[in-house]
Amino acid sequence: MSKVIGLKCRECGTEYPAGIQNTCYECFGPLEVHYDWDKVQDIASKEKIASGPSSIWRYADLLPLDGTNYVDLGAGYNRLHHAKNLGKELGLQELYILDDSVNPTNSFKDRVTSVAVSKALELGATAVGCASTGNLASSVGAHAAKAGIPAYIFIPSSIEAGKITQMLAYDPNIISVDGTYDDANRLASEVADQKENWAFVNINIRPYYTEGSRTLAFETAEQLGWNTPDHIVVPLGSGALLCALTRGYRELENIGFVDSGSDISISGSQPAGCSPISTAVRNNTEVVPIREIDTIAHSLAIGNPADGYYAKEIVRSSGGHAASVTDEEILEAILLLARNEGIFTEPAGGTTIAGLKNLVESGHIDPDERTVVYVTGNGLKTQDTIAKVTGIPEPIKPVYSEFTKRFNNIAN
Ligand SMILES: [Zn+2]
Repeated sequence: MSKVIGLKCRECGTEYPAGIQNTCYECFGPLEVHYDWDKVQDIASKEKIASGPSSIWRYADLLPLDGTNYVDLGAGYNRLHHAKNLGKELGLQELYILDDSVNPTNSFKDRVTSVAVSKALELGATAVGCASTGNLASSVGAHAAKAGIPAYIFIPSSIEAGKITQMLAYDPNIISVDGTYDDANRLASEVADQKENWAFVNINIRPYYTEGSRTLAFETAEQLGWNTPDHIVVPLGSGALLCALTRGYRELENIGFVDSGSDISISGSQPAGCSPISTAVRNNTEVVPIREIDTIAHSLAIGNPADGYYAKEIVRSSGGHAASVTDEEILEAILLLARNEGIFTEPAGGTTIAGLKNLVESGHIDPDERTVVYVTGNGLKTQDTIAKVTGIPEPIKPVYSEFTKRFNNIAN
């Protein structure tokens, strides 16, 4: 029997067979994958994981696929860096960074896409698609190319040129929408409703898609010798990543892979120009969708976050907190990370690092907490934005005296 029983409503508990569906017909609540945890516990083991592939598929027994026909470009199982330099700079004794900028298409989205596209094929989908702020688009384009299935991708026209070039290389059908991400998402949802057997990874097969993010929790714990952090800091866009990470850690506890009762404080960070979740956490109010968005962190620019309510509840009940950081702080944090740890991230990663700094300075993270930060995208995707603060060096003539002059300037 399959380890996946079906889908279950997060709100009212109504159960459905595993199919292309994301919303409860009874209460319109979101659906989640419903596992047979006894079965999972029977088949999964740390030894099996240790001898598995160097990708998220080493955790296949904890993922919602029935077969083994994975679309695997090698996403995941990335290095958990002990960030000693940055830790020292910020006053943290034990800081780790899980660097997901080194995935096949250079963002954490390869984790969710690999799971979603594999599941779409298993469910008999004839096309895949998504609404995206850029990173997901490239990821879906790449995985669809590998799987040989057509892809339809809806993006707001305002995203970074570098991201558009990357996604076009994989040759999916790109529908550039004159509007915000939320507008692109609404149109994609309408198309998903009309086209039978089209699987939109973050819309009508979202329950399977979000499962891929849990692997970030699995590989953090595995690389900590099957231990958990005291505190994690996560970028907030839709809120789905934070929710999935939390679930991943809880599940490891439930199947006995990590000690039970390990309390993890869960914190998030959003750009100040689009921070509906962080604002709700700090003021303890409802998550109020926003329409006016102004930030360089395009991949977090989601004004109406699908999992905002749940993310806010988790942050507050875990004893974590949420930061809102300015574009200036985001750019500073990108350089802080690059110059201390040799990791080059895009503004979403800058948002997380700036949030970390903010939470340490405001006393929401203790210096002795074992803290893990998730860096989710690569700086090479957004070079134009970052070049504004790095500048370009003036050339010199190729003679030693010119070098000496320049060197004296540097030394001073
Ligand atoms: Zn329901």
